[in-house]
Amino acid sequence: MYTVNLVREPDRHDRQVRAFGRDGQNQLRAATVAVVGAGGIGSLIIQGLAHLGIGRLIIMDPDQVEPTNLNRLAGATPTDARNGTSKTEIAARAVRRIAPDIPVQTSRASVLDTEAWLSLRCADLIFGAVDGHAPRWALNAMAVQYARPYIDTGAEITRSGDGSLDVSGHVATVAPGGPCLLCLSGYDPSTASMELDPALTAAKRSAGYLRDAPDEPTPSVIFLNQTIAGIALGEALNLLTGWHHPRPYTLIDLSSPSLTPIDAERDFDCPACGPDSLRAEGDSAPPPHFSVPSPPPQP
Ligand SMILES: [Zn+2]
Repeated sequence: MYTVNLVREPDRHDRQVRAFGRDGQNQLRAATVAVVGAGGIGSLIIQGLAHLGIGRLIIMDPDQVEPTNLNRLAGATPTDARNGTSKTEIAARAVRRIAPDIPVQTSRASVLDTEAWLSLRCADLIFGAVDGHAPRWALNAMAVQYARPYIDTGAEITRSGDGSLDVSGHVATVAPGGPCLLCLSGYDPSTASMELDPALTAAKRSAGYLRDAPDEPTPSVIFLNQTIAGIALGEALNLLTGWHHPRPYTLIDLSSPSLTPIDAERDFDCPACGPDSLRAEGDSAPPPHFSVPSPPPQP
């Protein structure tokens, strides 16, 4: 679904043009950006892109709002939680309020769906604000096959053995020619395969190989998401305007607090982006199918 309004106030970006120049603003204006995942981090990224004056947005998320999302989902209201409004609609509504001239395409498909995955080809830059390894696998495959810049984000709040609370996150930037998300250890292919196969996951869990509770909500707070979204938006500005060289990885630790940029090189034997991959093959290679066969039933 597209929403378009062609009015744009002439001075609304004056203060950032003073930082990044008219050329930088034109780069933003010309870009189509996809945000996959319109939850805690994705909703903040989307609102940031609207304020920055991005040219066109693609928003993809299959989920609807739940009451426990309201502590961090930017733009969501208690009425949305009662009505089960889709996260894509909340994001699109926020963009309409901030910058009604930005065309927004929304999709409630999963990025693991082949048609949805292919729809990301028209983006100049892709944000991933997703949970799990399988969606990251899919987004990395898009970034590699179509040479699209891809920014992966993630948050983690855990309690250490000594009782201290770790509040951390990351922003990983996959630039064409640079290390891919697998080179950066941004996902685990075997875990991704397992996520795509619920029967195998259930079998491993019942056998005691998996200890985590699959439906247990994980902790999440808006101030961590805001930090991650801010770093990610800065990386997007780097990629679109050439502000500075992209940083492959930034580790965010709000317990210290600290930001740690981590440099990384491509792994030239990487199964995702190495010689045996579909690197930059685009439409000349078939799209991947993100499903694996279920194991045969046990006797
Ligand atoms: Zn790689």
